[in-house]
Amino acid sequence: MLRMSTLFLRTLREDPADAEVPSHRLLVRAGYVRRVAPGIYSWLPLGVRMLQNVSRVVREEMDAIGAQEVLFPALLPKEPYEVSGRWTEYGDLLFRLQDRRGNDYLLGPTHEELFTLMVKGEYSSYKDLPVMLYQVQTKYRDEARPRAGVLRGREFVMKDSYSFDLDDAGQQRSYDLHREAYVRIFERLGLDYRIVSAVSGAMGGSASEEFLAPAPTGEDTFVQCTSCDYAANTEAVQLRAADPQDPAAQPAMQVLDTPDTPTIETLVAVLAEQGHDVPAAATLKNVVVLLRYPDGKVEPLVVGVPGDREVDVKRLEANVHPAEVLSFDTFDEHPQLVKGYIGPQGLEGIRYVVDPLVVEGSAWATGANEPGKHAVDVVMGRDFTPSGVVPAAEVRAGDPCGRCGSPLEIGRGMEIGHIFQLGRKFADAFSLDVLGPDSKPVRVTMGSYGIGVSRAVAAIAEQSHDEKGLVWPRSVSPVDVHVVGIGKAEQPAVAERLAGELEGRGLRVLLDDRRKVSPGVAFKDAELLGIPTSVVVGKGLADGLVELKDRRSGEVRTVPVDEVVEAAVREVLA
Ligand code: ATP
Ligand code: MG
Repeated sequence: MLRMSTLFLRTLREDPADAEVPSHRLLVRAGYVRRVAPGIYSWLPLGVRMLQNVSRVVREEMDAIGAQEVLFPALLPKEPYEVSGRWTEYGDLLFRLQDRRGNDYLLGPTHEELFTLMVKGEYSSYKDLPVMLYQVQTKYRDEARPRAGVLRGREFVMKDSYSFDLDDAGQQRSYDLHREAYVRIFERLGLDYRIVSAVSGAMGGSASEEFLAPAPTGEDTFVQCTSCDYAANTEAVQLRAADPQDPAAQPAMQVLDTPDTPTIETLVAVLAEQGHDVPAAATLKNVVVLLRYPDGKVEPLVVGVPGDREVDVKRLEANVHPAEVLSFDTFDEHPQLVKGYIGPQGLEGIRYVVDPLVVEGSAWATGANEPGKHAVDVVMGRDFTPSGVVPAAEVRAGDPCGRCGSPLEIGRGMEIGHIFQLGRKFADAFSLDVLGPDSKPVRVTMGSYGIGVSRAVAAIAEQSHDEKGLVWPRSVSPVDVHVVGIGKAEQPAVAERLAGELEGRGLRVLLDDRRKVSPGVAFKDAELLGIPTSVVVGKGLADGLVELKDRRSGEVRTVPVDEVVEAAVREVLA
């Protein structure tokens, strides 16, 4: 039994100054976590219980699909990450350090390299496979924007697992097993989630899906089709593009004087005055960004998107990975880039790419690379040829689904899990082979699967709270029942007795046995802490009655004191 009189817990009346989202605010106020440094948190007793409860659900479901738990250190030597290329590829995200001899180490951001080496060290025959291994362990990433408390930490707890198979069919089976386990895990954690297609980012490889927990404060944007079951992270979304056209069928390109038209709006107006009826969607906006590669090289990149859309930097960044996208402001160093009047035709010495909405043979109004001049009927494949196609345009509600053409809806969410089919990327890097039945080596194929364990605690809080505090689902709540005794007469003693009886029935109990706390404070704390069921022993005791409260519905039932244990047990087990 946890007793509030001795529990290492101080709740706060005020919101922490740096908290932008409800989960951060409430986890700090309710005494679950404390900030140590940006993106680095300690867990107090109730918080530790939350972490343990989430980990327990994760472990049970991983064990149920036959995955075996191992544990790696967080402090890792550089060499395996050099072999995979990620020592540089990770760029600033990686915490690097040196030992006293000057040898390079890192704090593991994820452990593909180590798992690959572990399997290579232990296994050598096709008979050993398949195998799935996992750990629940602390990860380190020097996030550019640590935010929202433990939702995006620089140190965080992840469950990461890895599958090793002989062939693609086996890899698909391991992937499907994980997908099903993740569904069970997030159901049990009481999280609302969506499974969306994802780009595989740093991992490379093919199929990849994310589990997103919808929340208005989420950092990820996803689309969902209003008619088919297509759902994708906007970084990975495939929109239905127009059909290619015949470039030869378009009118000839024409350069026009368009003074004072540095924006799409002004351009559309001036073109209309000159008899060219060009909607914003038929103008081509060319945005210059700076790409910074992990080795430190930088390069300007011009991205063409339809003029009625902005460039979505996150989407662009996901598609130029591992390069980082920075803003570009050195126009004076690149005289060929005429700010406000850039066009892809005749643009030399600078890489130019288009969004897939810009299709072969399409005609555009765009800059003419001279101040105050634009060109109309600039045709892709005739007047310019981009060096590549990179999804970069902002995706909007109502855009056509890439699969069925119906309108897409847009939502925001937090990434709580991610499953990848890695293929042979890491097996190739480390020559992970086993001997096949014919004694010939077979290259192993892999999958990698993550769940943000500490993030899940915050994600649950983000989805499950009200203005008064946290509202934990039963499966993860630090305890099952919160017992409060209010009053100076027999109430404390009865509360104590009931708490003991509830514990005797196998429930986990938090007893508010603080003597010097007012009823108002005790109630406020109970609401803040978020335990799903409470038993309140108050004035009614004189008539043999106590209250049974449901934190989620707010429902309060008055129950005879000698029936409340049974009633609470029923509620907790329901
Ligand atoms: P994000 O896009 O949010 O940065 P990611 O795609 O880089 O996450 P993965 O490499 O897929 O993350 O890691 C697996 C899981 O670990 C994620 O699905 C997420 O739940 C969790 N996670 C990743 N980064 C953090 C972090 N900084 N703090 C807490 N949890 C994290
Ligand atoms: Mg991810």
